[in-house]
Amino acid sequence: MKKPLPKVAFFDFTGCEGCQLTVLDALQTHPDLLSAVEIVEFREAMSEKTDAYDVAFIEGSCTRVSDETRLRCIRERSKIVVALGACAHTGGVNAMRNNHIIDDLKRVVYEEASDHFEAHHTRPISEVILIDAFIPGCPIDRGEFVQAIKALCMGTMPVIPDYPICLECKLHENACLLQQGKACLGPITRAGCGALCPSLGIGCEGCRGTIPNPNLEALEMIFSEKHCAPHELRSMLSLFLTHTLNPKEVLAHESS
Ligand code: SF4
Ligand code: SF4
Ligand code: SF4
Repeated sequence: MKKPLPKVAFFDFTGCEGCQLTVLDALQTHPDLLSAVEIVEFREAMSEKTDAYDVAFIEGSCTRVSDETRLRCIRERSKIVVALGACAHTGGVNAMRNNHIIDDLKRVVYEEASDHFEAHHTRPISEVILIDAFIPGCPIDRGEFVQAIKALCMGTMPVIPDYPICLECKLHENACLLQQGKACLGPITRAGCGALCPSLGIGCEGCRGTIPNPNLEALEMIFSEKHCAPHELRSMLSLFLTHTLNPKEVLAHESS
């Protein structure tokens, strides 16, 4: 008898849905994936829903208390949970709001209707449920997603680099932007995108999250030695890494 295909489901929380669009893109360029897995729920692409799946890919951050119940429900139903993209993995750009008092932001955006909207500080989904793997990036890398599906089908976990972007940048023989006095977070950012931005002459903004134990002090020193303005470093770090680098501040705002 033919072995049943792994049942795969996709879920979205707070995000722009760009990672799900990248998945759709990957399914078009790698249609063979559709004969390796059975997609049973994917709001972006189909209307069917189910309570039974083996692998849940979750896009988006947890930004409401009510998200927690839904996340726990997905976790209970799935053997494997994968955080899909920066919003789910690190909080992503959504975590920028953690630098402010949430009620103040709500009033600015919704004015007198602000009480009708639920909002909370932003958290990566790993702060609410246990995750088994993550695919970083904003958006995710299509090739990395395809490799992740292959690994999961073979019963292993996706292998995500834990070394910095600089290594890939050097392999591309790019002239270092920091050496030219231009801001770049490559030394503390997780590789895997092939140093996409520095290869185009744009400083890395850290969308893939940090390597384990990033040396911020050394990065600050290099920025100052190379005459990059300190506010440039702060501004770059706040785009994707607010939650990763300032979880204590988040809690301070929450209790204020
Ligand atoms: S990680 Fe980026 S592309 Fe993916 S959902 Fe979040 S904002 Fe969109
Ligand atoms: S340009 Fe950025 S990523 Fe490339 S070597 Fe310099 S600091 Fe590292
Ligand atoms: S270079 Fe940095 S910002 Fe650009 S895609 Fe790679 S990790 Fe993201």
